[in-house]
Amino acid sequence: MKYHSDISQLIIDKAKSLGASLAGVAKVSLLKESPSSLVAPKIAQYSGVGTRDALNGLRPGEIAWPPNAKSAIIIAVEHPESRPEMDWWFGTKNPPGNLILIRINKELSQWIEDTLHIKTHKLPYHVEKGGIYLKDAAALAGLGCIGRNNLLITPDFGPRVRLRGMLLEEDIEPTGPIKFDPCEGCAEFCRLACPQSAFSQTVFSEKEMGTDHLPGRDGTFSRVICNVQMEKDIADAREERPYPESGELVKIIKYCRRCELACPVGR
Ligand code: SF4
Ligand code: SF4
Repeated sequence: MKYHSDISQLIIDKAKSLGASLAGVAKVSLLKESPSSLVAPKIAQYSGVGTRDALNGLRPGEIAWPPNAKSAIIIAVEHPESRPEMDWWFGTKNPPGNLILIRINKELSQWIEDTLHIKTHKLPYHVEKGGIYLKDAAALAGLGCIGRNNLLITPDFGPRVRLRGMLLEEDIEPTGPIKFDPCEGCAEFCRLACPQSAFSQTVFSEKEMGTDHLPGRDGTFSRVICNVQMEKDIADAREERPYPESGELVKIIKYCRRCELACPVGR
C-alpha cells in the first residue's frame, strides 16, 4: 500500500494551528476490526444517555461507514480540571468544549477539501448517530492507549481530553499506534474513584466476546452502571447562572468525570 506520507503531517500541523492539542491518523480498514467494533454488536442493546434516537437501519453497535472512507483523522482538545465548564450542558446548548471541537473539525475539513482536494466526512460524536469508536481510533492513530478506566489515556494530558474525528476518502500514512501503557502497575485510582462501582464485576469474558480487548481492558467496565450515574447527574442538575451578565437561569448538567480526574497521568 502506498501512502501520501507528508500529507498526514500537514493535516496534523493544520489541526494544531486551529486549536487541537493532539491529532493523528488511523486506517479505516483497521478501525473496522478494532476492539469496540468487534465487541459492541455482541453487547445487548444499550440505550443510555446520548444514544437515543439512533439512525434508522443501524444495528446496535454498527457503524455507518461511507463506502470510500480510507483514513480517519482524530483530533483531541485538552480538558483540564481547571475548566470543568468545557463539558457542562447549559440547558440544551452544546457544551463549550464540543463547540471548540466542532469548530476545529469543520475548519480542518474545509481546509483539507480546498487545499488537498480530498473528500472528507465530518463525524458526529455518537456511533448511534453516525459516528465511529473515537477512543479506538485515537489509540490506533497514536494519541495514547485505552486505560483501565475505559478512557483514552494520552501521555501529555492523561484521560483529560475530548475527541472528535472525520473520515477521508484517501489512504494517508497512519501515525500510530504507540507503545504506551501507564496502567501497568498502577494502583487504579480511576476505578477506586467511581461512585457507582462500575468496574466491580466481570461483565464481558474473552470467550464470549472473541477478543481479549474488552471494556475496561479486562471486561469489568459496565456502561449500564456508569449510565446510572449519568441519569443521576441529569436529575441533580440545578438552575444556575452560567453567564451572570445575561441574568438568565438555566439548568446545568455536570456529568461525572471522577474516573478521568483521578488518573495521575499527564498531571
Ligand atoms: S489511574 Fe492508573 S489504572 Fe487508571 S487509567 Fe490512570 S494509569 Fe490507568
Ligand atoms: S464516569 Fe463516573 S460513574 Fe462512570 S465509570 Fe467514570 S467514575 Fe464511574
